[in-house]
Amino acid sequence: MSIDTESTGSLTLSGLQRMILQMYGEKDAVRGDAATFLWLTEEFGELASALRSGTHEELAAEMADVLAWLATLANIRGVELEAAVLRKYGRACPGCQAVPCVCDPAEKP
Ligand SMILES: [Zn+2]
Repeated sequence: MSIDTESTGSLTLSGLQRMILQMYGEKDAVRGDAATFLWLTEEFGELASALRSGTHEELAAEMADVLAWLATLANIRGVELEAAVLRKYGRACPGCQAVPCVCDPAEKP
């Protein structure tokens, strides 16, 4: 399924969410947010393993999984990821309002 990549060859966050919704929406609705969050955290563990000892291809695949499960969670809870990211990060760092960020490295930006 390449509904959102056919015209431009790129995939937006909105397009990712629609793709995941079409692919898994019914199953995701049944599973619910708590069980989906568990799958997301499991994928974070697999990403950690890939960072430590995986190939570049394995690392890329685990990053795709984390993003897909986050999109799933957003679909279940009715969050539009693209709008949320733009709202929070679209102008500048939400901590210091600068680009690039000038927050103290000891702080979480
Ligand atoms: Zn900052």
